[in-house]
Amino acid sequence: MENIVTFSQLLKVTGQNEKRISEVFWELESHMLEKSPEEVRNLARRNLEVMSSSIQDGLKNFGVSPSGMSGEDSQKILKRYKNADNLPFNRLIGRILGYSIAISEENQRMGRIVACPTAGSCGIVPSVITGYAEEYGFSEERQVNALITAGGIGKIIAQQMPLAGAVAGCQAECGVASAMAAGAAVDLMQGTNEQIVHAAVLALKNIMGLVCDPVAGLVEVPCIKRNGFLAVHAVTSSEMALAGIQSFIPPDEVIQAVKQVGVLMSPMLKESSEAGLAVTDTAKQVLKNIRK
Ligand code: SF4
Repeated sequence: MENIVTFSQLLKVTGQNEKRISEVFWELESHMLEKSPEEVRNLARRNLEVMSSSIQDGLKNFGVSPSGMSGEDSQKILKRYKNADNLPFNRLIGRILGYSIAISEENQRMGRIVACPTAGSCGIVPSVITGYAEEYGFSEERQVNALITAGGIGKIIAQQMPLAGAVAGCQAECGVASAMAAGAAVDLMQGTNEQIVHAAVLALKNIMGLVCDPVAGLVEVPCIKRNGFLAVHAVTSSEMALAGIQSFIPPDEVIQAVKQVGVLMSPMLKESSEAGLAVTDTAKQVLKNIRK
């Protein structure tokens, strides 16, 4: 089986929905990893289990971080959305927000998470898959398919541009995670393959240019709350795609545009903490306190 490196290739292979994207990547991974299809599904299942336990750990282990910048925000969201009837967002969005922040807070505590695609963006894909699964009662098998779909989207993007804030800014970490989660959400809602791909690139192109400027060089501010924002951004993209909205710029061209912006971005805005939020007076004070 030939490798798939572009979205147009992927849509050609899936045909007119004769095959789901998850099926194609399931077979491809099995071929490339030289593992049986069942072994590949078991790997995905295992990742889902770790994702689920990192949500639970994140909700259990709250407490202010050593830098004093984070630690208790997931609790605030979930408390607010416990009875969501009269709130502007519904329970699904409340959960996704709370879970994405909980996992990211757990990452800050050095807890166990699944990097998807990176540790800094680890809250986005799991919170979307788990949020939908809890809200709609989706089976584990359906969640495994959604995770394989998300992985396939990440793989296609990773073969065309680097997925690291230090090389291409946060668009390449939280932006790509949001694209993966948007595709997973469409998959869970039984959208078409084309809708999955368009949801992914709608998420990616609308976060193009997002810089990486972590305060004190820690994956904490703005990273943790950013996971919440971009998890909800994935839901917005998936809803647009499910409604039939497509990216005017073809999917593969969007990736090239994001890649180009990553190259043009100043190194000061790519994880070096030399600009943006990282050089504010407050950030400098945090750094001073840490070094004391
Ligand atoms: S701001 Fe930088 S360190 Fe933080 S999640 Fe984004 S890419 Fe990662």
